[in-house]
Amino acid sequence: MKDEPEDKFIAMVSATAKTDLRLVDFAPRASLAVPAHDVRRAKYPAIDFHNHLDAQEPREVLRVLDACNVERCVNITMRVGDEAVEVLERFRRAAPDRFHTVAWMDWRDLGEPGFFARSVERLERIVAKGARGLKVWKDLGLTLRDPGGSLLRVDDERLAPLFERAGELGVFVMFHTADPDAFFQPVDRFNERYEELSAHPDWGFHGSHFTKAELMEQRNRVFARHPRTRFVGAHVAERPECLAEVSRWLEEHPNFYVDISARASELGRQPCTAREFFIGYSDRILFGTDLVPREEMYRLYFRFLETADEYFDYPSHASRQGRWQIYGLRLPDEVLRRVYRDNALRLLDG
Ligand SMILES: [Zn+2]
Repeated sequence: MKDEPEDKFIAMVSATAKTDLRLVDFAPRASLAVPAHDVRRAKYPAIDFHNHLDAQEPREVLRVLDACNVERCVNITMRVGDEAVEVLERFRRAAPDRFHTVAWMDWRDLGEPGFFARSVERLERIVAKGARGLKVWKDLGLTLRDPGGSLLRVDDERLAPLFERAGELGVFVMFHTADPDAFFQPVDRFNERYEELSAHPDWGFHGSHFTKAELMEQRNRVFARHPRTRFVGAHVAERPECLAEVSRWLEEHPNFYVDISARASELGRQPCTAREFFIGYSDRILFGTDLVPREEMYRLYFRFLETADEYFDYPSHASRQGRWQIYGLRLPDEVLRRVYRDNALRLLDG
């Protein structure tokens, strides 16, 4: 039996394969040979509804936008106070009709008396300067503590005048609440984002005071409490893992939109479900990237939305989200037009 050809073959293979390869060194190359399209410009003029340009040079951004048929870019500034106004004006000077600014919630003096009234005045001031929205980040609900020392809830009543005022001023409020499901799970061998979380241990929220589901509920209560204010859930409302749930939220809250920024990875690994989602809610979904504006980054998003290409890299910063590839959605033209631009115009131009 020892001389069977099959045994010899197995012996040969085991001699060459390293069985102790470390996960970090594993970089397989797909053998798959399928069509691959290089979509150099968006099929229709696009608006990047979610980006952070504070560190970027406006002229260089414009060069990339022009090359890719991106008509406008929304800068969610991460500066506050006078610095935010400076950023806003810097981009307005460069191209008033190409850049929009969204203000960042300023929590610096949360512990001081009068904070909540002051936050309304700050919003009024930056909107008077031209800001089109307010971004509320995940620190609300995960880390911010009120003057009494307890964790501030997303639906804290003291924030109600701020969100109501946004509606009166005609500007939207963008929430990035919680984070991917995997960030709330133990960082162990079952975690699909193990490599990312072990590289960035501070990104994990396993054991957080509020569960992810509670944070989502608190946020959605705000949508219901302010029906005249328009809200945007960044990153597919931070629940692209379950588009059925996001669909329910969109049904329940007509004042609620989602952007797809930084989640092509999630949407592109469930192309059938995602395509139905885009078609079903084409008037509520916003194109956005959340990545440094570069031609190759935009082109991956266009490839994802416009082609039926299979099994390719998702747009991402250097730290990848998970070990999988994505599939194109080949969205119908009327869906592309809405997602790329029309929905954004409704939120940005009133
Ligand atoms: Zn962002």
